[in-house]
Amino acid sequence: MSYNTDENCLFCKIIKGEIPSAAVYENDEVYAFRDIEPQAPQHIIIVPKTHIASTNEIDEENSKVVGAVFAAAAKIARMEGFAENGYRIVNNCGNDGGQTVGHLHFHLLAGRSLQWPPG
Ligand code: 5GP
Ligand code: ZN
Repeated sequence: MSYNTDENCLFCKIIKGEIPSAAVYENDEVYAFRDIEPQAPQHIIIVPKTHIASTNEIDEENSKVVGAVFAAAAKIARMEGFAENGYRIVNNCGNDGGQTVGHLHFHLLAGRSLQWPPG
């Protein structure tokens, strides 16, 4: 399967293995790895392998990857044993959303009771 890549993108480098990461799950469409600065006992980043800068770039053509991300999240939750206790999936978009890496990604957080509303 072929996908777009951006040679200056941190998560594209992680997907290609140019920057090491702790893999949790992988298939043709997505890659999941442990966040380097975990905000919960379980903090996993799930990315589409194709480079999409943010949710702003999601359209009818490429939105299938979002379903693939959520299917991976459900699988990881079962694999890691936190499906029953629950978890949170977060996508930060743009400056006000707190996005710091310009490759669409979803935070999968679990292992403690998470607060609401977020900060
Ligand atoms: P954002 O703030 O864009 O929503 O999330 C980016 C996330 O990527 C942050 O939680 C940050 O800790 C994580 N991150 C940044 N650089 C690296 C890295 O080199 N390796 C890993 N595993 N995570 C990273
Ligand atoms: Zn990228």
